[in-house]
Amino acid sequence: MHARSGMNCVDCGKPVEPVAAALTTKIVSPQATEFRCLDCLAKVFSTSRERLLDAARAYRDRGCLRFQGIKF
Ligand SMILES: [Zn+2]
Repeated sequence: MHARSGMNCVDCGKPVEPVAAALTTKIVSPQATEFRCLDCLAKVFSTSRERLLDAARAYRDRGCLRFQGIKF
């Protein structure tokens, strides 16, 4: 499933960043139906948004298509 645009975080209601949506389908589930913004995703995984962005960059560098063509 491709992440849709215009989603809001299920926890705080802020818009979900494209990279947060891509991380969700990568590390939570390709069929994820609940999306969180970077900050709330970091809380769920007990990490920081910087570490999530590092992970996203690593996936992008390995050629994961989810992370091509989005800015983060
Ligand atoms: Zn949030």
